[in-house]
Amino acid sequence: MNERVTAESVRADVRAWVRAHWDPAMTLVQWRTALLDAGWAVPSWPERWFGKGLPAWADDVVRREIAACGAVSSVPSGLAGPTILEQGPDSTRERFLRPMLTGEEVWCQLFSEPSAGSDLAGLTTTAVLDGDEWVLNGQKVWNTSAHHADLGMLVARTNWDAPKHQGITYFVLPMHQPGVEVRPLRQMNFHSSFNEVFLTDARIPRDWVVGAVNQGWSAALATLAHERRFGVAVTVDRHPVDPGPAAEQAAAEAGETLKVYSWYPQRAGRADLAVPHARSAGLAGDPVVRQEIARLLSLQRVSQWTAERAKSNRALGRPPGPEGSIGKLAISHVARQAARVHSRLGGAHSMLAGTDPHAPLDGLLAEILMSVPAQSIAGGTDEIQRNILGEKALGLPKEPDPGKDLPYREARNR
Ligand SMILES: Cc1cc2nc3c(=O)[nH]c(=O)nc-3n(C[C@H](O)[C@H](O)[C@H](O)COP(=O)(O)OP(=O)(O)OC[C@H]3O[C@@H](n4cnc5c(N)ncnc54)[C@H](O)[C@@H]3O)c2cc1C
Repeated sequence: MNERVTAESVRADVRAWVRAHWDPAMTLVQWRTALLDAGWAVPSWPERWFGKGLPAWADDVVRREIAACGAVSSVPSGLAGPTILEQGPDSTRERFLRPMLTGEEVWCQLFSEPSAGSDLAGLTTTAVLDGDEWVLNGQKVWNTSAHHADLGMLVARTNWDAPKHQGITYFVLPMHQPGVEVRPLRQMNFHSSFNEVFLTDARIPRDWVVGAVNQGWSAALATLAHERRFGVAVTVDRHPVDPGPAAEQAAAEAGETLKVYSWYPQRAGRADLAVPHARSAGLAGDPVVRQEIARLLSLQRVSQWTAERAKSNRALGRPPGPEGSIGKLAISHVARQAARVHSRLGGAHSMLAGTDPHAPLDGLLAEILMSVPAQSIAGGTDEIQRNILGEKALGLPKEPDPGKDLPYREARNR
């Protein structure tokens, strides 16, 4: 069926459906329920799971067309959606996919721990089965959005006697319970989007597992691969929506999301501000500044082409290649070069924060400089991307890990 589908035919189908079904008097949940029951929420997903089995490119085409009709087009699927879809089991898909797509349940990612970030498989948060529930103890950290999430994607050790990667299970943690304490962290850029999460006898129903018990590592890799390729999908309607409850509720949801992600454009370096900044600083004619800006804009263009290449590979249904890691490294590179340009233009004033009347770009410059380092860390550091490329794309020998095949209880104490 897919071979006959074209962007134009998909656009025409969804347009006709939206015209017949969009009613601005609906609530947001009613509208999204209608979308997912009709298969238009994530049309690339299988029909059994709220999609239409269309090629990957259809998601973008459909979202734009819904927006062009003046309807709410945002659908939250985040990182948990594709992971659960891919890894199952069906009971987990049945319980979680629908309220995720309607936005009734908000998710966060509870992977990193104080001594398990790049080496995520070295995690020590432990889950023990007690009757019909898992009991969890440990600590997570750097958990974006955990302060307003209902559910967490959580990886924990369920077998200390298996080798490092084999005793891990991927759970869905209900966040609102006495055993879960979320403490916001204050960042050096003045924002507070991360949290520490302390688990003290926290409880998870026995079957709230993604993939299978003790096989959570492959599910975790699926989430991380998705994060590398797409980043965290921030679903916000950026077009006028017909006024009504659905539009108001979508705007309120977007406001919550943007509170967390408002510094992400600064994290990417704000290359778009380089030329206006050079002009306002009176340095647009400076030969060194011009050279640095030209370098920035060419790096950015190449990075966009890499992203386009990845996108067209996906649209052709090809398996993920090295573009995820290459693209992520390219974005870090662009961000650092942008910070270099901005700090050359701002000089020592770049350090002044928003409240100071002399702060360049009303303090945005300081925020850029303090946010850019996060670009090379989130979703796997630059060094880890290079390791992935070395091993997976270039076929270099794997990093030595002498305790890899030992029971983790033993390997950890070596
Ligand atoms: C903006 C942002 C959002 C985040 N959101 C979340 C979230 O929602 N949920 C979550 O669980 N986590 C989140 N994180 C955490 C993130 O996944 C970790 O910070 C990241 O994996 C790195 O781990 P770490 O901070 O422990 O650094 P470490 O792993 O301690 O690394 C320290 C340094 O050592 C280097 N290094 C480590 N191992 C190697 C190696 N084998 N080879 C070469 N160099 C190495 C690293 O590259 C780095 O430079 C977020 C981080 C950021 C910045």
